[in-house]
Amino acid sequence: MESKSPLESFLDALFPPGCPVCGEGVEGGGPCELHAWRSSTADPRCRRCAVRISVYLPDGHLCPRCVQRPPFFERTLALGDYGPRTPLRDWILALKHGGRRELADSLGRAMAELVRREQVPLSENLQLVPVPLHPLRLLERGYDQAGLLAGSVAGELGLEVLHALRRRRWTDPQGTPGRESRHANVEGVFELRRRAARRLGGSTICLVDDVLTSGATASACARSLRAGGAARVVVLVVARAHSTPGLGFTPGKIFPPLGVETSP
Ligand SMILES: [Zn+2]
Ligand SMILES: [Zn+2]
Repeated sequence: MESKSPLESFLDALFPPGCPVCGEGVEGGGPCELHAWRSSTADPRCRRCAVRISVYLPDGHLCPRCVQRPPFFERTLALGDYGPRTPLRDWILALKHGGRRELADSLGRAMAELVRREQVPLSENLQLVPVPLHPLRLLERGYDQAGLLAGSVAGELGLEVLHALRRRRWTDPQGTPGRESRHANVEGVFELRRRAARRLGGSTICLVDDVLTSGATASACARSLRAGGAARVVVLVVARAHSTPGLGFTPGKIFPPLGVETSP
């Protein structure tokens, strides 16, 4: 991150910067009450995809989706949840659709902190790979939010961004109904860039994106990266969306049964 110039520091002292999202003045700086997020570790989470799981299951158990169709990534790190009333929703909408590319700096810093806190081994040939945007979408938006986030995380951790993947065709945005169709939708969409493939062997990949929804996109990316020789893929996102609130869990209906585990 670039440090502030004396003039910027002076102006900050005169006019303290407001909430990065809405600009509301906050004593001591930082996000306002509406836009401050808490790390979402309070509820039990699936250890692969970070979706909330039944409160009757231990934290880190697998969710039904990951049991039925194990994703090609090993775990997911998210700053928080994405939903109608979550603070991170405004951050992401502003970053993605509001032209507020500078928000990637704050988010990336927090994501880097998460990588450190979760002890993803930084020395083990760790590479940051953004989920690629379709060139037409890039043209429409003018920037690639996953690339910006990856750049910010990389700057914080002293790593490089490896643009290892390319999108071969247009896909419908995440959130299109039908989980199976989402998996079919992204099948074979992400291919390795030839030059990047040489750097994948035995590496740990942090796959960076803004939101993880069904996990289909991340899994398709992870599949290509693993096929290219990556040893493991960890997904790093701003927020985890819960496309099906509660995921059909009801007390007494616990799946998989406690004690049944599948290997990662
Ligand atoms: Zn705010
Ligand atoms: Zn899961």
